[in-house]
Amino acid sequence: MADLTELTLSAARDGLENNEFSSKEMTEAHIDAMADAGVLNAFITATPELALEEAVASDTRRAAGNAGPLDGLPLAIKDLFCTQGVLATAASHILDGFHPPYESTVTANLRRDGAVFLGKTNMDEFAMGSSNETSFYGPVVNPWRRNGADTPIVPGGSSGGSAAAVAARLALAATGTDTGGSIRQPAAFSGIVGLKPTYGRCSRWGIIAFASSLDQAGPMTRSVRDAALMLGSMSGHDPKDSTSADMPVPDFEAVVDQGVKGLKIGIPKEYRVDGMPEEVENLWRQGTQWLQDAGAETVDVSLPQTRYALPAYYIVAPAEASSNLARYDGVRYGLRKEGENLIDMYERTRGEGFGAEVRRRILIGTYVLSAGYYDAHYLKAQKVRTLIARDFATCFELVDAILTPTVPFPAFGQGEKSNDPIAMYLNDVFTVPASLAGLPGISIPAGLSSDGLPLGLQVLGKPFDEETVLRTGRALELAADFSAGPKKWWRAVV
Ligand code: GLN
Repeated sequence: MADLTELTLSAARDGLENNEFSSKEMTEAHIDAMADAGVLNAFITATPELALEEAVASDTRRAAGNAGPLDGLPLAIKDLFCTQGVLATAASHILDGFHPPYESTVTANLRRDGAVFLGKTNMDEFAMGSSNETSFYGPVVNPWRRNGADTPIVPGGSSGGSAAAVAARLALAATGTDTGGSIRQPAAFSGIVGLKPTYGRCSRWGIIAFASSLDQAGPMTRSVRDAALMLGSMSGHDPKDSTSADMPVPDFEAVVDQGVKGLKIGIPKEYRVDGMPEEVENLWRQGTQWLQDAGAETVDVSLPQTRYALPAYYIVAPAEASSNLARYDGVRYGLRKEGENLIDMYERTRGEGFGAEVRRRILIGTYVLSAGYYDAHYLKAQKVRTLIARDFATCFELVDAILTPTVPFPAFGQGEKSNDPIAMYLNDVFTVPASLAGLPGISIPAGLSSDGLPLGLQVLGKPFDEETVLRTGRALELAADFSAGPKKWWRAVV
């Protein structure tokens, strides 16, 4: 039998439907792969016993003719999703021992469709970061390495464990969340597909909050078809999330191969930033050519406010985070450090429970929301956000989708940027504008850097037009024919 971990999600689905193998076999293959890959540190909590139970139950359902769209397919779940009875940490010390009594809507939807969960993936603490180096559980190592070197490379963040798990064939696909780029950027750094849906497409209920007006769940997969398949399950209206969109969920998979003939694709000049390596510039030009060859028309467009997106994001996101994270006080769940009195207990708990990056964000957020600074910073950032959304709206009067690089550079080495927050925040320069505007975006692995690391191209679309994003992503995927994968060096490391 072929290596079951090498299949795409949709090929695995078809194989299960044709009874070529069982979910139990498929799940066991992934559990073995996970056991061999401890050095990548992709999982915070592995749940092999539960996964096997679910796989056996799935095989029984299938035999009875009751299989759902994702039945028996082993997935990895970012540890920001609450999973009933299974530890959920957000990669933070402060959530020590937190076993949620409920299931997030997105993971409940995946379960409803029959998916098997292999475990909870590592991530940046509270999804704050771009390199998966802020986790209380230690950094995730990218399965990719530079040519001829064994320097540990970051997988990107914050969904770095999910990205590494999918790239290293430890899971067929994974969930991620994206607040400012945390699905698309690690997808680009790890050579996989990452889709951030329109804000409101997937329910946020039961996802540990970072910045509520930006947070959005999405699929991380090894093909565009897989992203479509998984998005279909994850999406849908949820009355428990007041920002969840009450809109029908299209059959995303059905449109994937419709091509781009006749579509207009915008190439925004503001994404040509100083110091961007030539290989990224060349890949972007190549992507433009690929879409033209596939029958699309490419148009130069302008998104004039782009340069204000990053500063606005790093005001809005910390502001919301400082408010959301006020709930962790040692009283109800998670870590508690006793003190001389109540205030002392709060301070000790929060001081020890949050890592340095999270504390930095809480300080920034509290500062920009405080009386006297609110108008100067927070209110202004909100106005900038409106202008950025308007830029996109104007642009989408002319074009159907926008093509950019996902990140201005390939993945970097562990420790290379962790002492320079500004350098770290620059990872997000191409992903945050769409986050601020609530738009859907996908990252497609499209080439390799000169030192052998993956590079991604990003497609952005109109609100709730994931279909065009997927079609365009598929056209790039076909043209790029990115078949490279990381060498499985970690199997030799004990
Ligand atoms: N890297 C960005 C940040 O640190 C985005 C994170 C995310 O999307 N969750 O805020």
